Amino acid sequence: MLDTQANGQHGSRLANLWDEAKAAGMSEPERLLYRSNLLGSDKRITNYGGGNTSAKVMESDPLGGGNVEVLWVKGSGGDVGTIKMDGFATLYMDKLQALKGLYRGVEHEDEMVGYLPHCTFNLNPRAASIDTPLHAYVPRVHVDHMHPDAIIAIAASENSRDLTRQIFGDDIGWLPWKRPGYELGLWLEKFCKENPKARGVVLESHGLFTWADTAKECYETTVEIINKAIAWFEANNTVPAFGGAVKPVLAADERRAVAQKLMPVIRGLIGADESKVGHFDDSQAVLDFVTSKDLAPLAALGTSCPDHFLRTKIRPLVVDFDPAAAGVEKTLAGLPDAIVAYRADYAGYYERCKRSNSPAMRDPNAVVYLVPGVGMITFAKDKATARISAEFYVNAINVMRGAAGVSTYVGLPEQEAFDIEYWLLEEAKLQRMPKPKSLAGRIALVTGGAGGIGKATANRLMAEGACVVLADIDEEALSAAQAELAGRYGKDVVRSVAMNVTDEAQVQKSFADTLTEFGGLDILVSNAGLASSAPIEETTLSLWNKNIDILATGYFLVSREAFRIFRRQKAGGNVVFVASKNGLAASPGASAYCTAKAAEIHLARCLALEGASEQIRVNVVNPDAVLRGSKIWTGEWKEQRAATYKTDDLEAHYRERSMLKRSVFPEDIAEAIYFLASDMSAKSTGNIINVDAGNAQSFTR
Ligand SMILES: [Zn+2]
Repeated sequence: MLDTQANGQHGSRLANLWDEAKAAGMSEPERLLYRSNLLGSDKRITNYGGGNTSAKVMESDPLGGGNVEVLWVKGSGGDVGTIKMDGFATLYMDKLQALKGLYRGVEHEDEMVGYLPHCTFNLNPRAASIDTPLHAYVPRVHVDHMHPDAIIAIAASENSRDLTRQIFGDDIGWLPWKRPGYELGLWLEKFCKENPKARGVVLESHGLFTWADTAKECYETTVEIINKAIAWFEANNTVPAFGGAVKPVLAADERRAVAQKLMPVIRGLIGADESKVGHFDDSQAVLDFVTSKDLAPLAALGTSCPDHFLRTKIRPLVVDFDPAAAGVEKTLAGLPDAIVAYRADYAGYYERCKRSNSPAMRDPNAVVYLVPGVGMITFAKDKATARISAEFYVNAINVMRGAAGVSTYVGLPEQEAFDIEYWLLEEAKLQRMPKPKSLAGRIALVTGGAGGIGKATANRLMAEGACVVLADIDEEALSAAQAELAGRYGKDVVRSVAMNVTDEAQVQKSFADTLTEFGGLDILVSNAGLASSAPIEETTLSLWNKNIDILATGYFLVSREAFRIFRRQKAGGNVVFVASKNGLAASPGASAYCTAKAAEIHLARCLALEGASEQIRVNVVNPDAVLRGSKIWTGEWKEQRAATYKTDDLEAHYRERSMLKRSVFPEDIAEAIYFLASDMSAKSTGNIINVDAGNAQSFTR
């Protein structure tokens, strides 16, 4: 069920991955793309979405102006590791140079962003980023701007200027902190003119710029400079990390058990305005930090690189948990106050720093929760953001480890941090984001998730923005279903778990794993099933028990686990049972199946009653004869039904039997489940929706 990513490696050097045989035949823009992807493939070189690359290329002017110099630079919103050709903005260099004549000074620098679209070359629709002038005005053909942990550790040290000189001599210069923008572009140009031999520059509290005449040389310079910093830290950072360990690390299964208790409670406490998805990280870099002596003072300083804290908030919340004491109850009891205090602290920061034209305060809840001896929990509006926020904080931990080991770590000044977080240009970007989908931030578990109805349901819920855990007994079908859905919606939003719904321990473990993967649960779709048919006198006790076990008991076991989580999470909950027409209408030769299906429907009504006071809704969808994609409608059951109804074409038989004369497909059932799982049906509980193309026998009454 795990889906962890490598992050936070220490010590080893970066390899030079440039393959000249590969690059030789490439055009200059293709070499830029190749270099960008190589750099972005290693999180030690730059964080996700952080940094950018550029090349100044001679191009033929589409307006017949002969050859013109064009800046190719990573556009707004991309990631160098995964960027494709269309991720680069292209701009006329002569127009970018002409912008200098329009510049009214640093207090007006934001207005320069509005001129960038006027410099577009060849109608390229990719928007130019705020960092464009930083690349344009460095008078070299190839420029890399990266956020390497080892360089930011220098840049976030109190004496970063001296350290830069000590490590790199005249090779690499140093510029004081300046928010990225037009002015910083001019600073870089001035630096290059005054230091023609320098190969790059460290930006205080930010990152690294490097440049060269060829793509290969630029890539190799970037790698060489970062390796030099890594080597220097290896030789000089010899003190125990973060003042040394003062708390024990719990065993892996105990860490997960604690996280599983904390995550739904935190999620409930911070989810009033926006449902959030969680991520749990207990990698070694995190464990070193959360067991250390300096955890609290370092965490309070906040992160340094501007990219980092845009995702992680200015500082994390350190959860009051003692790994040396037994139990988590005291921590759980203290969480509401701790979260209220964090929000008050954040509101205080907003009030201290806001300007007359600042946007309104955004969500004041913490993103990063550090748990001593256990690890790091992050919560965000979707899984990818929660995961990336965790990766960013690991970058921040690596930076603090380096800086605090050789100097004194300094975070970004509060006002500077605020000015980036509430930058009007950032706000405009947020305003342009599409409206969240109807199930954004919701977490669902679907049993029988690899079968026809289960997979169609997962697909429907994911299309509306939900994260889904597929549970199924058929492991082969399960991994195929997970791969298919991950291909469509991305790896972040789907997990799978092998689960037999009749096995109490497996059910409990599956729900617990859901908590460490996504942080909570909002929707249970109980759908796993089987079918059998036999006249009563030929129904064996084992056949009877099998139906009762999987259908009645299985639905009971998964509902009980869901209810336990819902009650801890205190954010309502939603259960949808996939029952059957046969739960209402008797059918010949299938007494065990029909009786068990009737039990499901009555269980749903009982649970609707029990859950109502806490906004836990329980509803039922009754399908009939959904043959397509079903694992039930194969083999014996299909033959038995065909024999019962004396037909070769069951689908046609059921279609003709229905009032509407239409076949029922898995997608039709999924649509009804989506309705009941969404807020569209917020005021319905204890209901049954028949999706059977009309069958008078199963009309509810
Ligand atoms: Zn940057």
